[in-house]
Amino acid sequence: MARKGFELKTNQQILLMREAGLITAEALEAVRDAIRPGVSTLELDEIANATILARGARSNFQLVSGYFHTICASINDEIVHGIPSKDRILQAGDIVSIDAGAEKDGWNGDSAITVIVPGGDAELSAARQRLSDITEESLWAGIAAFATANRVNEVGAAVEDYVNSQGKWGILEYYVGHGIGRSMHEEPAVFNYKTRESSPKINPGLVIAIEPMVVAGSNATKILADDWTVSTIDNSDASHWEHTVARHAKGIWVLTANDGGAERLAKYGVTPVELKS
Ligand code: MG
Ligand code: MG
Repeated sequence: MARKGFELKTNQQILLMREAGLITAEALEAVRDAIRPGVSTLELDEIANATILARGARSNFQLVSGYFHTICASINDEIVHGIPSKDRILQAGDIVSIDAGAEKDGWNGDSAITVIVPGGDAELSAARQRLSDITEESLWAGIAAFATANRVNEVGAAVEDYVNSQGKWGILEYYVGHGIGRSMHEEPAVFNYKTRESSPKINPGLVIAIEPMVVAGSNATKILADDWTVSTIDNSDASHWEHTVARHAKGIWVLTANDGGAERLAKYGVTPVELKS
């Protein structure tokens, strides 16, 4: 995907991005509420699109060249970029990640959640929930690091450290987070692992999408015949969580979380600071 250079955002621009972030969050909540055995991923896509349109925004996924849907829905061994279809019917116990974004007044939000479809085999569902929980917490560890980090790469180090503290899991390396603003995908790249690559310094006004993708087995991936869907090669399960987060002069603010991240960041000693218009 094309990545444009990144600009530091003003407080006023971050407030506009908050609007896009809240609409993105609302769309994902609507999808989460609709997830049950028997629902198709295309139905979920329509729910997300209707939610975004009702708020006077538009789907930024539909602005990606060659992509015509509002969400990506990636099931079980699919990791990211699953294309919604009327023929993809969720089954009890599936682990499904939903990725979505809204553009409002020219500014973008981007977020992803993972949900275990209710009613499945208890043992399998518990194992999948654990994978999702570890991935989600690694996201929050990365967000917490972003609050005080000097360099963007410190975010990925925190993600990796958390995942590794939980046992043996695979972290995707080929797919990473990104800057976000007027475009959904901007510089800089936000890795989910430790790297020696030179890393941009973090200044107030940097807004990034942090999005760990964690798998139960090998992190080797393949792209399916639809040319979009990324799946594991060993058929192991995958999870993906994402938030759009702003760093400003007084702290951080999770733009795609209704509470700005307050609840999940408390245990890290990080208090998000909301900007006022
Ligand atoms: Mg996303
Ligand atoms: Mg993203």
